Amino acid sequence: MDFALNDDQLALQETARRFAQNEIAPAAAGFDQSGEFPRDIIRRSWELGLASTCIPQDHGGVGLSSVESCIITEELAWGCSGMTTSIMANDLGLMPIVIAGSEAQKKEWLAWAAAEFRLIAFCLSEPNAGSDVAGLQLRAEKDGDHYVLNGTKCWITNGGVADLYTVFATLDPTTRHNGVVAFMCPSDLPGITKGKKEDKMGQRASDTRVIHFDNVRVPAALRLGQEGEGFKIAMRTLDRTRPPIGALATGIARRALDESLAYAKERKAFGFPIAGFQAVQFILADMAKDIEASRLLTLQSAWMVDRGGRASKHSSFAKCFATDTAMRVTTDAVQVFGGNGYTKEYPVEKLMRDAKLMQIYEGTNQIQRLVIARELMKG
Ligand SMILES: Cc1cc2nc3c(=O)[nH]c(=O)nc-3n(C[C@H](O)[C@H](O)[C@H](O)COP(=O)(O)OP(=O)(O)OC[C@H]3O[C@@H](n4cnc5c(N)ncnc54)[C@H](O)[C@@H]3O)c2cc1C
Repeated sequence: MDFALNDDQLALQETARRFAQNEIAPAAAGFDQSGEFPRDIIRRSWELGLASTCIPQDHGGVGLSSVESCIITEELAWGCSGMTTSIMANDLGLMPIVIAGSEAQKKEWLAWAAAEFRLIAFCLSEPNAGSDVAGLQLRAEKDGDHYVLNGTKCWITNGGVADLYTVFATLDPTTRHNGVVAFMCPSDLPGITKGKKEDKMGQRASDTRVIHFDNVRVPAALRLGQEGEGFKIAMRTLDRTRPPIGALATGIARRALDESLAYAKERKAFGFPIAGFQAVQFILADMAKDIEASRLLTLQSAWMVDRGGRASKHSSFAKCFATDTAMRVTTDAVQVFGGNGYTKEYPVEKLMRDAKLMQIYEGTNQIQRLVIARELMKG
């Protein structure tokens, strides 16, 4: 077993690390405060080959493996997780095309997404169907060589800025999983309207919206897979995108440790740097230990995805463990900073707000535990 990164992976890591340190991190607090979408920074990530990385080289993309995607995601998230969520949402939206697109669809749409800077969104969640994906209600009705979509999606990352939506609809809500069908919808199709940007607790640089579909006519040629395959496409997508979520959480936690270490060495109490107190050292040691475990679980699950086997259980291990770790580590970072940690003068309160989302999206951590338990019962 070899834990070392190869030369190409080290170069990729270095590119992402420099970009995060020099361009993302300095801008992060400003975009957190304003809640504006950092389009130029996201565009720059694409120019550097750090966005839309799941597009295979055959279709003009950079074609990174899941392991490589995790390596860069941890670095980017160290700089700002809100921006990194926007970058990752592109791959989340593209993955159903990679997984289920016909050769003709891939040739057209993946090449389209690779040719220029494009933003993509993945539209699965609805006001009454978040954890219960099979309960989705957005209707698709066949009408000749089109489908007509009616309904509402919510919590859509990149919702207000996307050029293309990957949309999951149902032909008949009473059939639950069996009725789900997936589509690619260019965002300028008549009948698509965007709600206001959500005013979120954290990851405020990412653009999250409700999207309404009102008699949207989608050509049948934009359907991904067969009718009824949509649920499976969504689940296979999430199996592959959960390792990078683990990496994103690891990046947030690593930033919290870096900030805590630096602060603990500087800050004095009772005449000594607080880093000299064993109680503080133990907090830092636990942070470092759990961050390392998060990274290992994440890379293991990514490696399994790259080998092409089933990775549901391990993807859920990684997502759940790394995001719970990020929440705990960032909360502890605020503790290490004392009163200062509770103010916006210092970076750790943002990390704590940002970390909370990680336990919620791409399947809550309760849902990850359900997936793990279901897999255990099978065994
Ligand atoms: C900022 C943000 C960005 C997002 N981006 C996207 C996106 O790009 N695309 C997209 O499709 N979705 C996106 N989501 C949606 C996200 O995936 C859902 O919020 C999440 O799946 C939870 O669904 P819900 O909010 O409806 O919560 P609910 O399903 O209502 O859950 C509420 C609570 O009940 C628990 N719960 C529910 N069912 C069970 C059960 N069976 N067993 C145990 N506990 C249970 C949950 O764990 C949770 O704690 C985003 C969400 C946010 C907040």
